[in-house]
Amino acid sequence: MATTITSVDAILVDLPTIRAHQLAMATMQQQTLVIVRLRASDGIEGIGEATTIGGLSYGEESPEGIKLAIDTYLAPALIGQDATNVHGAMARLNKVARGNRFAKSALETALLDAQGKRLGVPLATLLGGAVRDALPVLWTLASGDTARDIEEAERLLAERRHDTFKLKIGRRAVRDDVAHVAAIKRALGDRARVTVDVNQAWNEADGANGIAMLEAAGIDLIEQPIARENRVGLARLAARFVVPIMADEAVTGPEDAMELARLGAADVFALKIAKSGGIFGMLRTAAVGDAAGIALYGGTMLEGSVGTIAAAHGFCTLPQLAWGTELFGPLLLKDDVVLERPAYRDFALRLPDGPGLGLALDEDKLAHYRRDCA
Ligand SMILES: [Mg+2]
Repeated sequence: MATTITSVDAILVDLPTIRAHQLAMATMQQQTLVIVRLRASDGIEGIGEATTIGGLSYGEESPEGIKLAIDTYLAPALIGQDATNVHGAMARLNKVARGNRFAKSALETALLDAQGKRLGVPLATLLGGAVRDALPVLWTLASGDTARDIEEAERLLAERRHDTFKLKIGRRAVRDDVAHVAAIKRALGDRARVTVDVNQAWNEADGANGIAMLEAAGIDLIEQPIARENRVGLARLAARFVVPIMADEAVTGPEDAMELARLGAADVFALKIAKSGGIFGMLRTAAVGDAAGIALYGGTMLEGSVGTIAAAHGFCTLPQLAWGTELFGPLLLKDDVVLERPAYRDFALRLPDGPGLGLALDEDKLAHYRRDCA
């Protein structure tokens, strides 16, 4: 008899962050995760996570909307389906719901976690195997205060936790943002790479002006300087400067990747499982980047441990990952809902051992932080 999906739960979890996290579009004081628990008729449970940045301020899905979509539409479509056929289950979801990529990503993760546990293999093994067991992880300096950011970077360098630092800019005038970034680069010198993420905040003229100054200051990478829709503008900026331009919001799936590659609009793609609708969508996007000679980078939606480790299993299987990752989400959280939190050392995140994701939920923490029990 086939092993069928018997239940799917989506749980909103509100976790405190270690500090306020300032982005061009929002300041985060806490993070809301949507944790998915998918059970099958053989008694095996898989877990997944969908998490957004600043509610609805970054993307088109919110934690509350993700839960609604899963409870109302996606979970009923999965109940009774073959739990061992991940592609089959995802095809069914794509038939009943357009878009909703974050929700689908969480469900795909839960299916893969369960299947890994069922077969007794890590998720990366299900994908064909990891070509690296650790992923370089940068840290985002986002306090907004120059002296405090330098102090934080110095401490993390000394602890050998991060040697690449990303600055979230675009809130202030271009000149003020560049002064902030340049001061941090001067303080850190060749000991660290410094990158910036503008999160689409600039127009093209600001972009040209800002990137010229950032390039002169020795900044290593410029992420999504202008609106995601302005691909031709991004191509003009990419052609104009030597410092690499990374597309993030502009590249969600393989179709975007094709178009950006055709235009020569990006030197680097930021990959994220959530925006591609899951690990397989991310891998398809990566394949287009590979074919076009575009460098790859493992991005984050600031997920907790479940979503972060799901992405890590996927990123570990990529043939090239020239710009490393930003899988630091769990480090931004004061507490988490897994028994053993991911291990960060020597500037890298290690894949956990064990079947599936290699994680187990902490039932007490989950009960404490879930919104419906607060
Ligand atoms: Mg970004």
